[in-house]
Amino acid sequence: MSGLPPAEGATPAMAQWFAAKAAHPDALIFFRMGDFYELFFADAEVAAAALDIALSHRGEHRGEPIPMCGVPAHAAEPYLARLIRRGFRVAICEQTETPEEAKARRAPTIRREVVRIVSPGTVTEEALLDGARPSWLLALAEAGGRLGAAWADVSTGVFRTESLARTDLPALLARLEPAEILAPPGLVPGAREAMPPADPARRLAAAFGVADIAGFGEFTASECAAAALLLDYLAAAGPLPRLEPPAPQGGQGLLAMDAATRRSLDILKSERGDPRNTLLAAVDRTLSAAGRRELAARLAAPLADLAAIRARQAEAAALATDAALAEAIRARLRGLPDLERALARLSVGRFAPRDLAAIRDGLLAAEAIAAHLAAAAAPPAIPLAPPAGLGAELARALADPLPARVEEGGVIARGYDGELDALRALREDARAAVAALQRDLAEAWGVASLKIRHHQQFGYLAEVPAAAGERLRRAPPASPPDLAPIHRQSMANVQRFTCQALAALDRRIAESAEQAAKREAAAVAHLVRQVLAQGAAIAATARALAALDVAAASAALLATGRWTLPAISEGREFVLEQARHPVVEAALARARGPAFVPNDLDLSPGRRLMLLTGPNMAGKSTFLRQAALAVILAQAGLPVPAAAARIGLVDRLFSRVGAADDIAEGRSTFMVEMTETAAILNQATERSLVVLDEVGRGTATWDGLAIAWAVVEALHDRLRCRGIFATHFRELTALAGRLPELACARMLVAEHKGEVVFQHLVGPGVADRSWGLHVARLAGVPRPVLARAGQVLAALEARAEGLDPLASELPLFAASPPRPQPPVAEPSPLLALLDEIDPDSLTPREAHALLYRLKALRAADRAHE
Ligand code: ADP
Ligand code: MG
Repeated sequence: MSGLPPAEGATPAMAQWFAAKAAHPDALIFFRMGDFYELFFADAEVAAAALDIALSHRGEHRGEPIPMCGVPAHAAEPYLARLIRRGFRVAICEQTETPEEAKARRAPTIRREVVRIVSPGTVTEEALLDGARPSWLLALAEAGGRLGAAWADVSTGVFRTESLARTDLPALLARLEPAEILAPPGLVPGAREAMPPADPARRLAAAFGVADIAGFGEFTASECAAAALLLDYLAAAGPLPRLEPPAPQGGQGLLAMDAATRRSLDILKSERGDPRNTLLAAVDRTLSAAGRRELAARLAAPLADLAAIRARQAEAAALATDAALAEAIRARLRGLPDLERALARLSVGRFAPRDLAAIRDGLLAAEAIAAHLAAAAAPPAIPLAPPAGLGAELARALADPLPARVEEGGVIARGYDGELDALRALREDARAAVAALQRDLAEAWGVASLKIRHHQQFGYLAEVPAAAGERLRRAPPASPPDLAPIHRQSMANVQRFTCQALAALDRRIAESAEQAAKREAAAVAHLVRQVLAQGAAIAATARALAALDVAAASAALLATGRWTLPAISEGREFVLEQARHPVVEAALARARGPAFVPNDLDLSPGRRLMLLTGPNMAGKSTFLRQAALAVILAQAGLPVPAAAARIGLVDRLFSRVGAADDIAEGRSTFMVEMTETAAILNQATERSLVVLDEVGRGTATWDGLAIAWAVVEALHDRLRCRGIFATHFRELTALAGRLPELACARMLVAEHKGEVVFQHLVGPGVADRSWGLHVARLAGVPRPVLARAGQVLAALEARAEGLDPLASELPLFAASPPRPQPPVAEPSPLLALLDEIDPDSLTPREAHALLYRLKALRAADRAHE
């Protein structure tokens, strides 16, 4: 990328560009030049490469050609989308006056101004958004020793704040996955550095037109600062979108999950592999974009509040028991437009006619659904009150079909606005008059093939073949004066003429078209005002529809008979009957593989901690994760894939996978494992659920076993949480005897004609170690290697025998594995000889000979070493 030359000596237009660039140095400047957005200098080089478009030159600056590339203004969106997705910010520099206005004020060039900054967290365009996911702009600020977070989705108007400790920041980032982050320098890598404005509380109050923000809830100083920072950033980026007042909600009432837990569970997105392999995809039965976003939001932030969870369950249950109502609602939800996002586009003035149609269709669907709810015996308690009459008003106002853009005209239906109809009739009359005039001129000028055509530049002109044109000019026909031909243009094959009558008609048509366009624009603006006046009610309607969509989707799962609403309590029980892993089950079904084998799980008091052993590929990880996913689903208020479930409320969910292949940021796998394990040991409570998948695998056997051992003890005795610990350290099962609430379980494996068969069933007891070799054979390890492995295994098992009694000897928390004793060596011949020597009985000659023997033995020993 080349540097930017100094601005001195720029043309007037380029001087505007330099000013825009100076004001927004970290954005690409989309500089409006007529029908194009053009980029210059380094911007052009970067954008041409990123967009794969031609880099050329326009004019010169200080004697050097100016690198330039451009995109058509009317088709800029896909280009913008590509730049934003690649992490660029774009400043849109528009022409903000007409050439006539510029001429009138004797300006050297048209006025241009940056009207908007496009960045990942500020977009509202459909093409730039993912319909199924919220698009969070997150602002962070520090005050009073706390961190304040404020996040908003400008595409839906949701605005939230939270006060948190610095250590909770990674979990918040993992929960929100923001599209864009504003933060004080050094806090979050990759964030935009930004500091909050002075007097943030006043800034907030002013933005929402209230005297004091206390009316919206209780905000800490840091939350306030973050919210004000966010607002300022949005205000600087363009017209302020419709935003709800900020809601201080905090992480209170939510199930805590850290980043590592989310990563290991593939909740909304799959870390690797098939993007369909997510919890969201496996449970998603919603029918609308807003419903899908709501479902994703619930899965990303499950609740930890009993009443709130039960309220959601009741919504699903109400629709599950009234199948007719559920079907009537779902029929209306199918193809429901995205009300919230259409509203957001209308609120910032960047909308297309289809956004008005979306409001119309959304409101009409809402009215129909509201009527169904009103007629139902026991409808779900989701208040749905679309603003009265607005849907019908839009239905009367909007034409069908609608143009793609407002400027094309034809947005407003005939019969909605009398004056507009009259202006359009005038235009139509004039068009009919053109046809009549064409007949008159053909006759008057004696050219049967005469055609009146419209030209962008010249308006209506009469076109005749070149030869006829020559004749008309040489010998004008004797026609009435207002029909006398006036030559305008000669082309190769045709000549173009006008006459007084045609020119007058052309003026009339242009004027009536202009007036009709003005009138139509006014009518559209009036509609938009009506919509925005009901913005809050429309947003509430959209949220209610989203909640209904999720409730109906839950009912659809329940209707299969394979999902159930769990009984949630304040207790400590944890019982899943015939539970399944929804993602693995769906993947098996897609691949037309074997059916998923359901399993029971009971982690209730007395058997809180399960130690699960079994060979590779037997289904341990699947079993662990299905327990964790059941908690997420249950506390999101959704059905779980099981025959029955009773779950005592979980406050924190931890899931860890040992020794994964993802060696993040150069830390060793073992270091990663231990850091993540430490987080659990420091944070888990009696209410938590911990699933640990082969933790300790990332290091040499003794260390790993020792740590796994200590962790199991700590989970059992100190944290007293519920949990499952999957391990290949069979030695750990020795703990079962002394930890009363530890239950041993194993994956059942059968042998069939010498082949290992995984039953995917969990049974009591400890795994039979020798199955590992069967798995190796299954994988194609050659026979001689398998045979040798069998010998080694036998030797190792003999040695491990010695460990079992150890369990009872180890003191609590002082547990350390034994150091293997060095084997007792055979005494060497050298030492044996030395032992035999009696110096007093030796003659000098014998002593001399002995010294030679000892030297020889020593030399032989050395050769062995
Ligand atoms: P492990 O952790 O013991 O190595 P996994 O849980 O990774 O085993 O399971 C290995 C494979 O076995 C899964 O990818 C899946 O295809 C299959 N599997 C696991 N559990 C079940 C089950 N309950 N029913 C059917 N297939 C299963
Ligand atoms: Mg596994």
